[in-house]
Amino acid sequence: MIVNKFGGASIKSSEAIQRMNSICSEFMQHGVIVVSAMGKTTNLLEQLVINYCKETPYDKYRKEFELYHLQIIEKLFLRDNPIFQLFSVLLQELDEKLLKRPGFNFDFEYDQIVSFGELLSTKIVAAYLNQQGKKVTWVDIRNCLKTDSTFREGRVDWELSRKLMVEYFPDADSNLYLTQGFIGSDLNNLTTTLGREGSDFTAAVIANALNAEKVVVWKDVPGILCADPDWIPDTPKIDKLSYSEAVELAFYGARVIHPKTIKPLQNKNIPLQVRSFLNTANQGTLIDSIKNQDTPPVYIKKEQQVLISIKPKDYSFIIEENLSHIFGILAHQQIKVNLMQNSALSFSIAVDSNMERVPKVIQELKLYYNVKYNDGLDLITIRHNQAGAEHKVLEGKTILVEQRSRTVAKFIVR
Ligand code: ASP
Ligand code: MG
Repeated sequence: MIVNKFGGASIKSSEAIQRMNSICSEFMQHGVIVVSAMGKTTNLLEQLVINYCKETPYDKYRKEFELYHLQIIEKLFLRDNPIFQLFSVLLQELDEKLLKRPGFNFDFEYDQIVSFGELLSTKIVAAYLNQQGKKVTWVDIRNCLKTDSTFREGRVDWELSRKLMVEYFPDADSNLYLTQGFIGSDLNNLTTTLGREGSDFTAAVIANALNAEKVVVWKDVPGILCADPDWIPDTPKIDKLSYSEAVELAFYGARVIHPKTIKPLQNKNIPLQVRSFLNTANQGTLIDSIKNQDTPPVYIKKEQQVLISIKPKDYSFIIEENLSHIFGILAHQQIKVNLMQNSALSFSIAVDSNMERVPKVIQELKLYYNVKYNDGLDLITIRHNQAGAEHKVLEGKTILVEQRSRTVAKFIVR
Protein backbone atom coordinates (compact mmCIF):
# COMPACT_ATOMS: atom_id res chain seq x y z
CA MET A 1 0.00 0.00 0.00
CA ILE A 2 1.31 3.41 -0.98
CA VAL A 3 0.53 6.82 0.53
CA ASN A 4 0.50 9.55 -2.13
CA LYS A 5 0.60 13.20 -1.19
CA PHE A 6 -0.39 16.15 -3.36
CA GLY A 7 0.54 19.65 -2.29
CA GLY A 8 -1.18 22.94 -3.03
CA ALA A 9 0.50 23.51 -6.40
CA SER A 10 -0.65 20.16 -7.77
CA ILE A 11 -4.33 21.06 -7.20
CA LYS A 12 -4.24 24.81 -7.66
CA SER A 13 -6.59 24.97 -10.67
CA SER A 14 -9.17 22.89 -12.50
CA GLU A 15 -6.49 21.84 -15.01
CA ALA A 16 -4.17 20.78 -12.19
CA ILE A 17 -6.93 18.68 -10.61
CA GLN A 18 -7.61 17.04 -13.97
CA ARG A 19 -3.94 16.22 -14.27
CA MET A 20 -3.98 14.82 -10.74
CA ASN A 21 -6.88 12.59 -11.74
CA SER A 22 -4.81 11.19 -14.63
CA ILE A 23 -1.90 10.55 -12.29
CA CYS A 24 -4.26 8.67 -9.97
CA SER A 25 -5.54 6.56 -12.86
CA GLU A 26 -2.00 5.61 -13.73
CA PHE A 27 -0.45 5.17 -10.29
CA MET A 28 -3.13 4.78 -7.61
CA GLN A 29 -5.61 1.96 -7.69
CA HIS A 30 -5.70 1.78 -3.91
CA GLY A 31 -4.00 3.25 -0.88
CA VAL A 32 -4.28 6.67 0.75
CA ILE A 33 -4.11 10.06 -0.94
CA VAL A 34 -3.22 13.03 1.25
CA VAL A 35 -4.10 16.47 -0.08
CA SER A 36 -3.28 19.92 1.21
CA ALA A 37 -5.15 23.17 0.59
CA MET A 38 -5.37 24.42 -3.00
CA GLY A 39 -2.69 26.76 -4.28
CA LYS A 40 -1.94 29.52 -1.81
CA THR A 41 -5.16 29.09 0.17
CA THR A 42 -3.37 28.66 3.50
CA ASN A 43 -1.66 32.04 3.10
CA LEU A 44 -5.01 33.60 2.30
CA LEU A 45 -6.66 32.05 5.35
CA GLU A 46 -3.74 33.21 7.48
CA GLN A 47 -4.51 36.77 6.42
CA LEU A 48 -8.14 36.17 7.22
CA VAL A 49 -7.44 34.87 10.70
CA ILE A 50 -4.95 37.65 11.50
CA ASN A 51 -7.58 40.26 10.67
CA TYR A 52 -10.37 38.35 12.38
CA CYS A 53 -8.32 38.23 15.58
CA LYS A 54 -7.42 41.90 15.39
CA GLU A 55 -11.09 42.61 14.69
CA THR A 56 -10.14 44.46 11.51
CA PRO A 57 -11.93 43.87 8.17
CA TYR A 58 -11.32 40.44 6.69
CA ASP A 59 -14.09 40.42 4.13
CA LYS A 60 -11.74 40.68 1.18
CA TYR A 61 -10.00 37.41 2.16
CA ARG A 62 -13.24 35.63 2.94
CA LYS A 63 -14.59 36.60 -0.50
CA GLU A 64 -11.41 35.60 -2.29
CA PHE A 65 -11.49 32.21 -0.56
CA GLU A 66 -15.00 31.64 -1.85
CA LEU A 67 -14.44 32.90 -5.38
CA TYR A 68 -11.20 31.02 -5.90
CA HIS A 69 -12.77 27.67 -5.05
CA LEU A 70 -16.01 28.47 -6.81
CA GLN A 71 -14.36 29.15 -10.15
CA ILE A 72 -12.56 25.81 -9.85
CA ILE A 73 -15.66 23.77 -9.08
CA GLU A 74 -17.65 25.53 -11.78
CA LYS A 75 -15.13 24.27 -14.29
CA LEU A 76 -15.04 20.72 -12.94
CA PHE A 77 -18.72 19.98 -12.22
CA LEU A 78 -22.18 20.51 -13.63
CA ARG A 79 -24.41 22.84 -11.63
CA ASP A 80 -26.53 20.05 -10.14
CA ASN A 81 -23.53 18.26 -8.61
CA PRO A 82 -23.84 17.82 -4.81
CA ILE A 83 -20.40 19.44 -4.40
CA PHE A 84 -22.06 22.86 -4.65
CA GLN A 85 -24.16 21.99 -1.64
CA LEU A 86 -21.14 20.69 0.30
CA PHE A 87 -19.33 23.88 -0.59
CA SER A 88 -22.06 26.12 0.83
CA VAL A 89 -22.30 24.03 3.99
CA LEU A 90 -18.58 24.49 4.64
CA LEU A 91 -18.73 28.21 3.89
CA GLN A 92 -21.65 28.54 6.23
CA GLU A 93 -19.69 26.79 8.96
CA LEU A 94 -16.80 29.17 8.39
CA ASP A 95 -19.11 32.18 8.53
CA GLU A 96 -20.68 30.98 11.75
CA LYS A 97 -17.23 30.76 13.26
CA LEU A 98 -16.35 34.26 12.01
CA LEU A 99 -19.52 35.74 13.48
CA LYS A 100 -18.34 34.86 16.97
CA ARG A 101 -15.87 37.20 18.59
CA PRO A 102 -12.30 35.88 18.56
CA GLY A 103 -10.90 34.48 21.77
CA PHE A 104 -7.50 35.43 23.15
CA ASN A 105 -5.63 32.38 21.94
CA PHE A 106 -4.48 33.28 18.43
CA ASP A 107 -3.03 29.83 17.74
CA PHE A 108 -6.34 28.19 18.58
CA GLU A 109 -8.32 30.56 16.35
CA TYR A 110 -5.77 29.99 13.60
CA ASP A 111 -6.31 26.24 13.55
CA GLN A 112 -10.11 26.53 13.61
CA ILE A 113 -10.08 28.76 10.53
CA VAL A 114 -7.05 27.76 8.47
CA SER A 115 -8.17 24.10 8.47
CA PHE A 116 -11.05 25.03 6.15
CA GLY A 117 -8.53 25.08 3.29
CA GLU A 118 -7.89 21.34 3.59
CA LEU A 119 -11.48 20.44 4.41
CA LEU A 120 -12.66 22.13 1.24
CA SER A 121 -9.86 20.97 -1.07
CA THR A 122 -10.36 17.32 -0.11
CA LYS A 123 -14.13 17.54 -0.61
CA ILE A 124 -13.60 18.96 -4.09
CA VAL A 125 -10.85 16.59 -5.16
CA ALA A 126 -12.64 13.50 -3.82
CA ALA A 127 -15.84 14.51 -5.59
CA TYR A 128 -13.96 15.03 -8.82
CA LEU A 129 -12.13 11.69 -8.69
CA ASN A 130 -15.43 9.96 -7.99
CA GLN A 131 -17.10 11.78 -10.86
CA GLN A 132 -14.30 10.45 -13.08
CA GLY A 133 -15.21 6.90 -12.14
CA LYS A 134 -12.93 6.18 -9.19
CA LYS A 135 -14.20 4.83 -5.90
CA VAL A 136 -12.67 7.20 -3.40
CA THR A 137 -13.64 7.30 0.27
CA TRP A 138 -13.25 10.73 1.89
CA VAL A 139 -11.89 10.51 5.42
CA ASP A 140 -11.92 13.30 7.99
CA ILE A 141 -8.40 12.87 9.33
CA ARG A 142 -9.38 14.66 12.54
CA ASN A 143 -11.08 11.44 13.58
CA CYS A 144 -7.82 9.55 13.63
CA LEU A 145 -4.82 11.89 13.61
CA LYS A 146 -4.83 12.85 17.27
CA THR A 147 -2.51 15.46 18.72
CA ASP A 148 -1.99 17.30 21.96
CA SER A 149 -3.48 20.80 22.28
CA THR A 150 -0.42 22.69 21.04
CA PHE A 151 -2.34 24.66 18.45
CA ARG A 152 -0.44 25.40 15.23
CA GLU A 153 2.19 22.81 16.13
CA GLY A 154 0.14 19.82 17.30
CA ARG A 155 2.25 16.93 18.58
CA VAL A 156 1.02 13.57 17.42
CA ASP A 157 -0.34 11.07 19.91
CA TRP A 158 1.21 8.11 18.16
CA GLU A 159 -0.36 5.29 20.05
CA LEU A 160 -3.89 6.57 19.73
CA SER A 161 -3.45 7.70 16.13
CA ARG A 162 -2.06 4.33 15.05
CA LYS A 163 -4.97 2.56 16.61
CA LEU A 164 -7.58 4.86 15.08
CA MET A 165 -5.98 4.98 11.65
CA VAL A 166 -6.28 1.25 11.25
CA GLU A 167 -9.99 1.71 11.93
CA TYR A 168 -10.52 4.66 9.60
CA PHE A 169 -8.45 3.26 6.73
CA PRO A 170 -9.41 -0.41 6.76
CA ASP A 171 -8.11 -2.43 3.81
CA ALA A 172 -6.16 0.36 2.15
CA ASP A 173 -4.62 -2.52 0.20
CA SER A 174 -7.76 -2.75 -1.88
CA ASN A 175 -9.57 0.58 -1.37
CA LEU A 176 -8.68 4.15 -2.22
CA TYR A 177 -8.97 6.80 0.52
CA LEU A 178 -8.52 10.53 0.32
CA THR A 179 -7.87 12.73 3.33
CA GLN A 180 -6.47 16.06 4.52
CA GLY A 181 -2.86 16.83 5.22
CA PHE A 182 -1.76 19.34 7.86
CA ILE A 183 -4.74 19.05 10.22
CA GLY A 184 -5.66 16.83 13.16
CA SER A 185 -7.55 17.14 16.39
CA ASP A 186 -6.83 17.10 20.08
CA LEU A 187 -8.39 14.91 22.73
CA ASN A 188 -11.35 17.30 23.01
CA ASN A 189 -11.88 16.97 19.25
CA LEU A 190 -10.80 20.56 18.65
CA THR A 191 -9.06 21.03 15.32
CA THR A 192 -5.27 21.39 15.46
CA THR A 193 -2.66 21.88 12.74
CA LEU A 194 0.79 20.39 12.47
CA GLY A 195 2.78 23.44 11.40
CA ARG A 196 3.02 25.07 7.97
CA GLU A 197 3.68 22.69 5.10
CA GLY A 198 2.73 19.85 7.42
CA SER A 199 0.98 17.67 4.86
CA ASP A 200 4.12 15.71 4.04
CA PHE A 201 4.31 14.86 7.71
CA THR A 202 0.67 13.71 7.68
CA ALA A 203 1.50 11.34 4.82
CA ALA A 204 4.40 9.96 6.86
CA VAL A 205 2.24 9.50 9.97
CA ILE A 206 -0.36 7.56 7.99
CA ALA A 207 2.34 5.49 6.28
CA ASN A 208 3.86 4.65 9.64
CA ALA A 209 0.50 3.73 11.16
CA LEU A 210 -0.57 1.55 8.25
CA ASN A 211 2.88 0.09 7.50
CA ALA A 212 2.87 1.43 3.96
CA GLU A 213 5.44 0.19 1.48
CA LYS A 214 6.21 3.71 0.25
CA VAL A 215 5.26 7.39 0.40
CA VAL A 216 5.19 9.41 -2.80
CA VAL A 217 5.15 13.19 -2.61
CA TRP A 218 4.10 14.78 -5.92
CA LYS A 219 5.69 18.18 -6.52
CA ASP A 220 6.11 20.85 -9.14
CA VAL A 221 9.87 20.27 -9.11
CA PRO A 222 11.68 17.24 -10.59
CA GLY A 223 12.73 15.98 -7.15
CA ILE A 224 15.13 17.24 -4.52
CA LEU A 225 17.58 19.60 -6.12
CA CYS A 226 20.93 20.88 -4.93
CA ALA A 227 19.33 24.29 -4.36
CA ASP A 228 16.05 26.08 -4.80
CA PRO A 229 15.94 26.69 -8.57
CA ASP A 230 14.38 30.12 -8.02
CA TRP A 231 17.55 31.04 -6.21
CA ILE A 232 20.21 29.13 -8.16
CA PRO A 233 19.02 28.18 -11.65
CA ASP A 234 20.19 25.02 -13.47
CA THR A 235 20.86 23.20 -10.26
CA PRO A 236 21.21 19.39 -10.50
CA LYS A 237 18.73 16.89 -9.06
CA ILE A 238 19.77 14.40 -6.38
CA ASP A 239 18.64 10.89 -7.40
CA LYS A 240 19.15 9.11 -4.09
CA LEU A 241 19.44 10.39 -0.59
CA SER A 242 19.78 8.76 2.81
CA TYR A 243 17.22 9.47 5.52
CA SER A 244 19.79 11.30 7.61
CA GLU A 245 20.92 13.53 4.78
CA ALA A 246 17.27 14.33 4.00
CA VAL A 247 16.67 15.30 7.63
CA GLU A 248 19.67 17.61 7.56
CA LEU A 249 18.54 19.28 4.36
CA ALA A 250 15.01 19.76 5.61
CA PHE A 251 16.18 21.02 9.00
CA TYR A 252 18.29 23.73 7.42
CA GLY A 253 15.36 24.91 5.36
CA ALA A 254 15.34 22.99 2.06
CA ARG A 255 11.67 23.48 1.45
CA VAL A 256 11.13 20.33 -0.54
CA ILE A 257 9.96 18.21 2.36
CA HIS A 258 8.81 19.06 5.83
CA PRO A 259 11.54 18.36 8.44
CA LYS A 260 9.32 16.12 10.57
CA THR A 261 8.50 13.83 7.66
CA ILE A 262 11.53 11.56 7.73
CA LYS A 263 11.49 10.15 11.26
CA PRO A 264 8.19 8.20 11.04
CA LEU A 265 9.39 6.74 7.74
CA GLN A 266 12.92 5.93 8.83
CA ASN A 267 11.57 4.20 11.95
CA LYS A 268 9.76 1.71 9.77
CA ASN A 269 12.16 1.77 6.87
CA ILE A 270 9.53 3.15 4.48
CA PRO A 271 11.06 4.82 1.40
CA LEU A 272 10.00 8.31 0.34
CA GLN A 273 9.89 9.26 -3.30
CA VAL A 274 9.70 12.93 -4.24
CA ARG A 275 8.66 13.25 -7.87
CA SER A 276 7.20 15.65 -10.39
CA PHE A 277 3.53 15.73 -11.25
CA LEU A 278 4.46 17.63 -14.41
CA ASN A 279 6.79 14.95 -15.71
CA THR A 280 5.72 11.50 -14.55
CA ALA A 281 8.43 9.75 -16.57
CA ASN A 282 11.04 11.21 -14.22
CA GLN A 283 11.55 9.07 -11.10
CA GLY A 284 12.51 12.06 -8.96
CA THR A 285 14.47 11.52 -5.76
CA LEU A 286 14.33 8.39 -3.64
CA ILE A 287 15.05 8.70 0.07
CA ASP A 288 15.76 5.54 2.02
CA SER A 289 18.37 3.87 4.19
CA ILE A 290 21.15 3.91 1.59
CA LYS A 291 24.59 4.99 2.66
CA ASN A 292 25.44 8.52 1.70
CA GLN A 293 26.96 8.79 -1.70
CA ASP A 294 29.11 11.49 -3.19
CA THR A 295 26.78 14.43 -3.18
CA PRO A 296 27.66 17.69 -4.88
CA PRO A 297 27.41 20.85 -2.75
CA VAL A 298 23.86 21.47 -1.60
CA TYR A 299 22.80 25.07 -0.94
CA ILE A 300 19.99 25.94 1.41
CA LYS A 301 18.68 29.38 2.20
CA LYS A 302 16.42 30.04 5.13
CA GLU A 303 14.96 33.52 4.99
CA GLN A 304 13.43 35.75 7.66
CA GLN A 305 15.98 34.99 10.34
CA VAL A 306 16.39 36.97 13.53
CA LEU A 307 19.85 37.02 15.06
CA ILE A 308 19.64 37.59 18.80
CA SER A 309 22.73 38.23 20.90
CA ILE A 310 22.50 37.81 24.61
CA LYS A 311 24.98 39.08 27.21
CA PRO A 312 24.83 38.81 30.99
CA LYS A 313 24.15 42.28 32.40
CA ASP A 314 27.01 42.24 34.88
CA TYR A 315 29.85 41.30 32.51
CA SER A 316 29.88 37.76 33.87
CA PHE A 317 30.60 34.77 31.67
CA ILE A 318 28.02 32.83 29.70
CA ILE A 319 27.94 29.68 31.79
CA GLU A 320 25.88 26.52 31.95
CA GLU A 321 23.24 28.08 34.17
CA ASN A 322 22.72 30.98 31.75
CA LEU A 323 22.48 28.60 28.83
CA SER A 324 19.92 26.39 30.44
CA HIS A 325 17.95 29.45 31.53
CA ILE A 326 18.05 30.88 27.99
CA PHE A 327 16.99 27.59 26.45
CA GLY A 328 14.18 27.35 28.97
CA ILE A 329 12.82 30.67 27.76
CA LEU A 330 13.12 29.56 24.12
CA ALA A 331 11.47 26.23 24.78
CA HIS A 332 8.63 27.91 26.61
CA GLN A 333 7.81 29.92 23.47
CA GLN A 334 8.52 26.89 21.24
CA ILE A 335 11.29 28.67 19.40
CA LYS A 336 13.68 26.49 17.43
CA VAL A 337 17.29 27.54 17.21
CA ASN A 338 18.78 27.35 13.71
CA LEU A 339 22.30 28.39 14.63
CA MET A 340 24.11 29.26 17.82
CA GLN A 341 27.49 30.64 18.70
CA ASN A 342 29.01 31.63 21.99
CA SER A 343 31.95 33.50 23.33
CA ALA A 344 32.91 34.17 26.92
CA LEU A 345 30.59 37.12 27.28
CA SER A 346 27.90 36.58 24.74
CA PHE A 347 25.65 33.98 23.22
CA SER A 348 24.09 34.42 19.79
CA ILE A 349 21.26 32.52 18.21
CA ALA A 350 19.45 32.67 14.89
CA VAL A 351 15.76 31.80 14.91
CA ASP A 352 12.88 31.99 12.44
CA SER A 353 11.04 35.25 12.59
CA ASN A 354 7.65 34.84 14.26
CA MET A 355 5.53 37.91 14.90
CA GLU A 356 4.01 36.45 18.01
CA ARG A 357 6.67 34.48 19.80
CA VAL A 358 10.01 36.09 19.00
CA PRO A 359 9.06 39.46 20.51
CA LYS A 360 7.92 37.61 23.64
CA VAL A 361 11.24 35.79 23.87
CA ILE A 362 13.20 39.01 23.42
CA GLN A 363 11.09 40.74 26.03
CA GLU A 364 11.65 37.97 28.54
CA LEU A 365 15.38 37.70 27.85
CA LYS A 366 15.70 41.45 28.39
CA LEU A 367 14.62 41.00 31.99
CA TYR A 368 17.86 39.15 32.70
CA TYR A 369 20.33 39.99 29.95
CA ASN A 370 21.43 42.71 27.59
CA VAL A 371 19.84 41.72 24.33
CA LYS A 372 20.42 42.99 20.82
CA TYR A 373 18.84 41.68 17.68
CA ASN A 374 18.84 42.04 13.90
CA ASP A 375 16.01 40.80 11.74
CA GLY A 376 15.36 40.23 8.06
CA LEU A 377 18.49 38.08 7.69
CA ASP A 378 19.16 34.90 5.73
CA LEU A 379 20.76 31.71 6.96
CA ILE A 380 22.74 30.11 4.14
CA THR A 381 23.90 26.54 4.68
CA ILE A 382 26.22 24.72 2.30
CA ARG A 383 26.45 20.98 2.82
CA HIS A 384 29.22 19.00 1.14
CA ASN A 385 31.05 22.24 0.84
CA GLN A 386 33.91 22.33 -1.65
CA ALA A 387 36.51 24.87 -2.56
CA GLY A 388 34.88 27.66 -4.50
CA ALA A 389 31.33 26.63 -3.63
CA GLU A 390 30.73 29.55 -1.28
CA HIS A 391 31.60 32.32 -3.62
CA LYS A 392 28.52 32.14 -5.77
CA VAL A 393 26.05 32.53 -2.93
CA LEU A 394 27.91 35.02 -0.76
CA GLU A 395 28.82 37.60 -3.34
CA GLY A 396 27.56 41.04 -2.37
CA LYS A 397 26.37 39.87 1.07
CA THR A 398 27.41 41.10 4.49
CA ILE A 399 28.29 38.14 6.70
CA LEU A 400 27.22 38.53 10.33
CA VAL A 401 28.04 35.04 11.56
CA GLU A 402 30.12 32.34 9.94
CA GLN A 403 30.54 28.71 11.04
CA ARG A 404 32.38 25.85 9.42
CA SER A 405 32.87 22.20 10.02
CA ARG A 406 34.65 19.73 7.77
CA THR A 407 31.90 19.65 5.15
CA VAL A 408 29.25 22.12 6.27
CA ALA A 409 29.44 25.91 6.21
CA LYS A 410 26.78 28.19 7.66
CA PHE A 411 26.42 31.92 7.24
CA ILE A 412 24.05 34.48 8.61
CA VAL A 413 23.96 37.19 5.99
CA ARG A 414 22.24 40.37 5.07
N1 ASP B 1 -1.74 23.84 3.37
C1 ASP B 1 -0.74 23.83 4.40
C2 ASP B 1 0.29 24.90 4.13
O1 ASP B 1 0.29 25.51 3.07
C3 ASP B 1 -0.11 22.50 4.58
C4 ASP B 1 0.73 22.02 3.43
O2 ASP B 1 0.66 22.58 2.35
O3 ASP B 1 1.46 21.06 3.61
O4 ASP B 1 1.09 25.14 4.98
MG1 MG C 1 0.76 24.11 0.88
